[in-house]
Amino acid sequence: MTTSLNIPVPSTKSLTNQVALVTGASRGLGKAIALALAQEGASIAAVARSEDALKETLAAIRAAGGVAEPFVVDVADGAAVEATVEKIMARFEHIDILVNNAGVTRDGLLARMTSEAWDIVINTNLKGAFNFTKPVGRLMVKQRAGRIINISSVIGLMGNAGQANYAASKAGLIGFTKSVAREFASRGITCNVICPGFIETDMTKDLSDDLRKKLLERIPLQRLGQPEDVAGVAAFLCSAAASYITGQILTVDGGMVM
Ligand code: NAP
Repeated sequence: MTTSLNIPVPSTKSLTNQVALVTGASRGLGKAIALALAQEGASIAAVARSEDALKETLAAIRAAGGVAEPFVVDVADGAAVEATVEKIMARFEHIDILVNNAGVTRDGLLARMTSEAWDIVINTNLKGAFNFTKPVGRLMVKQRAGRIINISSVIGLMGNAGQANYAASKAGLIGFTKSVAREFASRGITCNVICPGFIETDMTKDLSDDLRKKLLERIPLQRLGQPEDVAGVAAFLCSAAASYITGQILTVDGGMVM
C-alpha cells in the first residue's frame, strides 16, 4: 500500500513476514488460531491428518488475502513430524511461531480405561508437542527468536473423573511448557501454555443438555467459550506486547478456575 505521494505505508499487521505452524488446524481451536494469526499477517503452515479436512481453513485464509499451505501428518509420529518440518522449511524458509494444538480425547473411568486409550491420548496430546517442539525449537534457537504456544486445558489443572488420560496429557503439557521456557529463554524464545475451559467445538458438541447446564452453573461468565476467545489470546502471545511473558499459564475459561 502507498500514500497519494507514493510513500510506502508500513503494514499495521503485527505478524507480517512471520510463519506460524499450527497443528490441528482443520477445525475448532486450531482453525480459529490459524485464522487469527493469518489476519495479523502471518503465513500459515496448517497441520492435520488429512488434506481434505484442511480445505476450509486454507480457503478462509486465502479468501482474506492470506497465505496458507497444508501439511498432512500424524503429530504422534516423530519421524514423520521431522520430515514435515523439513517440508515446511523448504516451502517457507523459517518458522517463527509454533502452536501445539492437536488433541484428542478417549474418555472412560480408569477402571475401564484400555492402554490403547491411554497411549493414543498421551501420544497425540503430549508426545505430539514434543515431536514438533524439538525440531522447530532447534530452528528457533538458530534464529534466536520464536514463540511457542501449547494448548492444554483446565482439565490439566483440575483433573476430571473419566479423563485420567486426557488430564495427564494436559498437565504434562504444563510442565513441558515451563521447562522449554527455561531452556529457550536465553535465545529470545518464549513458550507459554493456554488452558481453555469448555469451548464450543466438535470436541464438546456431544455434551448432554444436563451436563451443559451443570457446566454453566460453574462458569462465572455464564457461557461456554468460542474458539475465537482462545484464538485472540494466542494472537496476543505472538505479539510484541507479549515479548516479556514466558513460562506462563493463561486460563481462558470464563472464570471457571480461579
Ligand atoms: P477438535 O475440534 O476435535 O479438533 C482437533 C484438531 O486436532 C483437528 O484439527 C484434528 O485434525 C487434529 N488432530 C487430532 N489428532 C491429530 C493427530 N494425531 N495428528 C494431527 N492432527 C490431529 O478439537 P478442539 O476442541 O478444537 O481442541 C483443540 C485443542 O484444544 C485440543 O488439544 C484440545 O484438547 C484443547 N482443548 C479443547 C477444549 C474444548 O472445550 N474444545 C478445551 C480445552 C482444551 P484431523 O482430525 O483433521 O487430523
